[in-house]
Amino acid sequence: MQPDGDRFSGLGLRPELLDALSALGYEEPTPIQSEAIPALLTGQDLVGQAATGTGKTAAFALPILNALADGARGKRPKALVLAPTRELAMQVANAIENYGRTLGARVLAVYGGQPITPQLKALSRGVDVVVGTPGRVVDHLERGSLKLDELTTVVLDEADEMLDMGFADELDAILSQVPEQRQTVLFSATLPPKIARMAKKHLNDPVRVQIERENVLAGETPKVTQTAHLVFRENKAATLARVLAVQKPTAAIVFCRTREEVDSLTEALKGKDVRAEALHGGMTQAERDRVMNRLRGGTADLLVATDVAARGLDVDHLTHVVNYNVPSAPETYVHRIGRVGRAGREGVAITLVEPRERRMVESVEHLTKTKIPYAPIPSVADLRASRLAATTGALIEALGTDLADARKVVTALAKDHDPLDLAAAALSLVHASTEEQEIPVVPPRQPRPERDDARPSTSRGGAPRTGPPQRKGPAAGMAKVYIGAGRAAKVAPKDLVGAIAGETHLSGKQIGSIEITERFSLVEVPANELDTVVKALRASVIKGRKVPVRPDRDS
Ligand code: AMP
Repeated sequence: MQPDGDRFSGLGLRPELLDALSALGYEEPTPIQSEAIPALLTGQDLVGQAATGTGKTAAFALPILNALADGARGKRPKALVLAPTRELAMQVANAIENYGRTLGARVLAVYGGQPITPQLKALSRGVDVVVGTPGRVVDHLERGSLKLDELTTVVLDEADEMLDMGFADELDAILSQVPEQRQTVLFSATLPPKIARMAKKHLNDPVRVQIERENVLAGETPKVTQTAHLVFRENKAATLARVLAVQKPTAAIVFCRTREEVDSLTEALKGKDVRAEALHGGMTQAERDRVMNRLRGGTADLLVATDVAARGLDVDHLTHVVNYNVPSAPETYVHRIGRVGRAGREGVAITLVEPRERRMVESVEHLTKTKIPYAPIPSVADLRASRLAATTGALIEALGTDLADARKVVTALAKDHDPLDLAAAALSLVHASTEEQEIPVVPPRQPRPERDDARPSTSRGGAPRTGPPQRKGPAAGMAKVYIGAGRAAKVAPKDLVGAIAGETHLSGKQIGSIEITERFSLVEVPANELDTVVKALRASVIKGRKVPVRPDRDS
């Protein structure tokens, strides 16, 4: 029997939400969820230290949904979640919608770079939860389209990122418009002093949740060769199949987050000729026994399992543990890889890491005081070499069997062909049917994503953009000045050129490209004049107002 906090049913959530979680295949709360959900359900403020991948979204989303009224609800939102980028805002909104479907939760994501009209319409129809980037939320507040007077909860998600991206003013502006009597939740991967200051200013006696680090000492981790592969989500199944084809584990467990993931990955692997079996909490004992017998008997090579299902499972000949995702807590990683490398045997742990999960890998490294090196995904050439090596081994074994019929064919063919060529052709036929493609490589770490409103005026009104944001660096010899006023303050290029030329000795010609976005502007100036320009503009006014001016962080 698990303690209450180890099960969703023990956290105090309403049945509709428990049903939704079960339908999503979540078997147990992650550590951040076990700690945060009960506290949030009591209405307390909370500061949580949690990176992406820990399950932090559900940790704040479920209590928000839990508090929604039954039946018809009013038009104005009860909860506001602020997130640094449009990608995160979309993800969070999707997650809340999924968890809240059974409750009919109305969730709206608002972010820049997207036409505002559909957002205005949705807001006027009525929403329960708004998830937005600070720039766009301020925009809606200024237009009067978003009213925060009925808010009961505000969440600052990835607060450190929001501050690093220069959203402090927007956050202050937003938080000054929400009711005093509200719950404020702050999640952040790191807790530097500026986050502590922010928490002090806006939160009321918050509960602090920082997952206790188990004291795992260096050297205590079992004898396991650890490797990580950085891979885009859509290529994970192919990568796993490739890695397995090259490594050929005798017996492996692949850990997934949810039942659905277990089922779909098992199917995908079977389609690639991997003898995989699913194991999860939704299966009966008899089904589980059958699966275990297949693994022990060698008719399956691989179990795809959730942590819950694999608990207490005793497979002593396991050679490989695969983390199909970086586990939601570093301690889980240690427990999982402890399943191999037992009794002095060598084990292998392989972790597939999506770009957004890199930080979680760093937490594991920190906890275990061991580096987990990234290795390239095996190439098509690696795969062929490994298959050829396997076939060669099989060929040599076959030499000891009865080859009388085959010899007759070869003898006849050898009259017209070189026997070596014949053997090479036979070997190549074995592999002829495999059409493999290279798996895309994740490029090195991208610079910090730009603010959602960092768009030059010319790109407004078009289709929403997809893919990683492209923020161009300054031209050679130039540097950018950030000026905290943009289209919303009716700033035009001539105002910026006028201010710079008027306050410094620079001429208009020395000023490079100008980008004006909704809330700020970026102006290129000669790099060696950057300080002069920043000082001069700080001392002056633009459009009759004093505005923040600083060297742009990307310069
Ligand atoms: P997050 O840290 O909120 O970005 O969540 C990371 C991933 O874990 C998301 O894909 C969630 O769907 C998934 N997830 C969150 N909580 C659980 C849970 N209790 N069990 C399984 N998966 C979860």
